[in-house]
Amino acid sequence: MHDKTLTELAASLAAGEFTSRELTEHLLGRIQRHDGELNSFITVTPEQALAAADAADAARARGEAGPLTGLPVAIKDLFCTDGVLTTAGSKMLANFVAPYDASVVERLKAAGTVSLGKANLDEFAMGSSNENSAFGAVKNPWDTSAVPGGSSGGSAAAVAAGLAPAAMGTDTGGSIRQPAAFCGITGLKPTYGRVSRWGIIAYASSLDQAGPMARTAEDCALLLNAIAGHDPRDSTCVARGVPDYREELNAPLAGLKIGLPREYFGDGLDPEVERAVREAVAVYESLGAKVREVSLPHTHYAIPAYYVIAPAEASSNLSRYDGVRFGHRCENPSDLIDLYKRSRAEGFGEEVKRRILIGTHTLSEGFFDAYYKKAQQVRRLIRQDFLDAFEEVDVLMGPASPTPAFDLGAQKDPVSMYLQDIYTIAVNLAGIPGISVPAGFVGKRPVGLQILGTHFAEQRLLNVAHQFQQATDWHLRRPQLVEESA
Ligand code: GLN
Repeated sequence: MHDKTLTELAASLAAGEFTSRELTEHLLGRIQRHDGELNSFITVTPEQALAAADAADAARARGEAGPLTGLPVAIKDLFCTDGVLTTAGSKMLANFVAPYDASVVERLKAAGTVSLGKANLDEFAMGSSNENSAFGAVKNPWDTSAVPGGSSGGSAAAVAAGLAPAAMGTDTGGSIRQPAAFCGITGLKPTYGRVSRWGIIAYASSLDQAGPMARTAEDCALLLNAIAGHDPRDSTCVARGVPDYREELNAPLAGLKIGLPREYFGDGLDPEVERAVREAVAVYESLGAKVREVSLPHTHYAIPAYYVIAPAEASSNLSRYDGVRFGHRCENPSDLIDLYKRSRAEGFGEEVKRRILIGTHTLSEGFFDAYYKKAQQVRRLIRQDFLDAFEEVDVLMGPASPTPAFDLGAQKDPVSMYLQDIYTIAVNLAGIPGISVPAGFVGKRPVGLQILGTHFAEQRLLNVAHQFQQATDWHLRRPQLVEESA
């Protein structure tokens, strides 16, 4: 059962082939056997999972099952979960038991899903490899010498390894799409404002967005149906109707206009990744799509703009961790200032501290105009590039990442890690949706095709991704670890 999609599992549950309890027990067993090596979970919650599975089976027996009833998921450990440890991958929150559920978690529970536990991530979602977690790095199930990507690396690895059929991630600058690409799964970053951020530990509030990670676009549609929609507790969450995201999955692609941004195929792109992406585009041409080159002229400024804006917002969001209200507190402080200083020095990891320093600097008087204000102006231009492109084409396609998953420890300095985000980050600055779908391999390591659409075009993206998955079998490949064992 562990290599099935959510959609297949839902059909099996409905047909009575097995119960949610049996499925949940099976996956908990797999987590126990395989996660010692992979480290994709920070917390596993077997008791809560089995109780939720029993409740789902009972609901089904009463004839009250919905499309997600009894389906197991993993939740990135950035979402608050009532009564369950919520660490954000940080020593700062190593003992934090959230007193409430994030809106997304609440909705998933109401839909009858079964949470298996909390997935590993880069500390406060800062990173592109999951190596910044205070709970240790995660290994890529396709090749355990490689990273799974980040920051939702635990979520991606758990799905790829057949420990959970789907997971929730968040994407501030690529954290759903890039780990999905590295782990050979499908990951959707919705439009900013499509999904509530309430109860998600904040990294950079104008960029953060939650979304589904699963084997297929169809499964992502199923999950987006449950989590999308207005939430009065998040003022940036848009009051706009939620369609059935499965409705358009089978719309034909004849006449679809695809744009290939010139800037996404330039220097620094691994030639093998480029080959896989171009072959994927050729599949679309065979389905009747029209392909042309377009330009996103400000792409080059996306990384510098993001790495000013995101740390600025982070420095503000992370100021609440002072060792007083919640968070790690140092031993025997001599006075209040000592308490603040040592609690923060001990609780935060190196990358988080670096970003707090950068953010505090760029927001300070005398530097604000030169850095933060300038970055916001650049952000506006980047957004306009996309809007101009979507006047001419329906979707944009390119690689999700310039390389396949790199080796653990390979990125030696912060800037080379930041450069990994070149194809994902502008999307968050513009607030548009994006999806990464499996599109081939370089050796043992998967390649992701990224598809971008204009604001609120999720239905179109899922349709375009689903049609690719009807024509190819990359999403059906499984690492050895999934094939060999029960
Ligand atoms: N790699 C980017 C960063 O470190 C994006 C992370 C994310 O999307 N959460 O900020």
